[in-house]
Amino acid sequence: MMKTSIIGTLRFRLSWTHGIIISIVIACVGSSHYYFISHKSQKDFDAHLLLDARLFVSRLSMTPVAVRLSTDGLSPVDVLTIEEFVPYFVITNLNGEVVPCDLYSKYVQEMLRLGEFKDLLNQTSGFMSLTAADGTVFRFANLQTGDSQNSSEFVVHLGRNREQVEATLREARIIGVYSVPLILALSVSIGWFLAGRALKPFDEVAQTAEHLTTENLNTQIATRHNEREVQRLVQSFNSMMWRLNRSFQQVRQFNADAAHELRTPLAILQGENEIALRSPSLPDDVRAVLASNLEELDRLTRVVNDLLTLAEAESGTEILQRKPIEVSAILRDLIEEMSALAEERQLKIECRGLPNLRVLGDDLWIRRALLNLIDNSIKYSKPGGIIEVSLKRVDSMVQIGIRDYGIGIDSKDLPRIFDRLYRADPARSRTKGGSGLGLSIVKWIVEAHRGQIKVHSQPDRGTTVEILLPAVEA
Ligand code: ADP
Repeated sequence: MMKTSIIGTLRFRLSWTHGIIISIVIACVGSSHYYFISHKSQKDFDAHLLLDARLFVSRLSMTPVAVRLSTDGLSPVDVLTIEEFVPYFVITNLNGEVVPCDLYSKYVQEMLRLGEFKDLLNQTSGFMSLTAADGTVFRFANLQTGDSQNSSEFVVHLGRNREQVEATLREARIIGVYSVPLILALSVSIGWFLAGRALKPFDEVAQTAEHLTTENLNTQIATRHNEREVQRLVQSFNSMMWRLNRSFQQVRQFNADAAHELRTPLAILQGENEIALRSPSLPDDVRAVLASNLEELDRLTRVVNDLLTLAEAESGTEILQRKPIEVSAILRDLIEEMSALAEERQLKIECRGLPNLRVLGDDLWIRRALLNLIDNSIKYSKPGGIIEVSLKRVDSMVQIGIRDYGIGIDSKDLPRIFDRLYRADPARSRTKGGSGLGLSIVKWIVEAHRGQIKVHSQPDRGTTVEILLPAVEA
């Protein structure tokens, strides 16, 4: 199965796109809301400040000698409003010079001494924000009053602490800034969950597809999800499988037919060659050619027979007639059968104490598999060597081992030896008469019996083939 990093998955992309879009939308809405609120609060603050300031100025009486503030006849609320201004008011003439007054609070006097009201004193109208050295934010309204005719005009600067409003706005800003990553995390998690749910049917389809091999191409994917997209995917997948299966069947049928067609002419050629070789008057060079032809015909016949066996195998596992069979008995028979060939090559087949173990399988096919393996061990052993055959129980399986000390298989060839017509060393295998189909047949037989096959090999050291087949209790 193809592995990709999580970043490359559709689920990751969907959830992050979803998360980022939601966060951007919320951040935009949040900041517009913040700017609207802060603007409105400023306007409201200024409107109230101006109203109250007008009331304050109306209660001031200014003579050249003194400034007086009267609250007579005012309601308690208005008195409070006026008193609120007392700590933060200062009066200037139109040139920005401070008019002396004993009503100035200590705070104002200190600010005047420090020169912090420098900019404010020159204002003659409107509003002005001012941040004191201690960080307090003030908003001042500047109101002109007095008589312009006798040039006794003044500007009253009245301030109010804006700290409370500023603190609320600051809090709103902090909440806004911290909530963005939180919203992002939340929406990515929700997106991850939703995308996972939406993509699950596709994953199920992919999982079914992953288990398809040439053996089960007729499988049709079924899904319990009835969303139109999933249904469409499943339908197109199934119809593709149907077409693939049909093509595969046609190729298999062609292989079987071709092998079948070749069998008769090959048998005739073989027979005629053998008859011709019996003639005593045959010149030596012609005899040599005929003998070599016969060898090649032998090999061709083996290839054709193996192709037919494979074609038969590929028609399905139903051809197997399973019943409990004694593996040790089969091995003893085969060793006896093959010992003549082994002796011819100065080899010895050894088996020590084969236990009585049974597997559920087709006697004929299992014999064929073991015969192929022993035959390979003989073919690829060095003269004078031994071949060890072992049998043991491993958990719920029966393990059959065939070990030789022959030419071995290079590690680069090992993964391919089960491929059809693959030969690790074509020149050498050919002289030994191999068809290159033996191990493909063995693999099919083992897997059709729900078993496993493993090959360990080292060049020039030898090869061990292990077959595991499900055991049957005695
Ligand atoms: P062949 O008919 O050529 O033996 P197989 O399918 O049986 O074909 O084996 C495929 C290839 O695997 C062989 O050509 C050979 O190179 C290699 N092979 C199989 N068994 C052995 C073995 N016991 N020792 C060394 N090489 C082996």
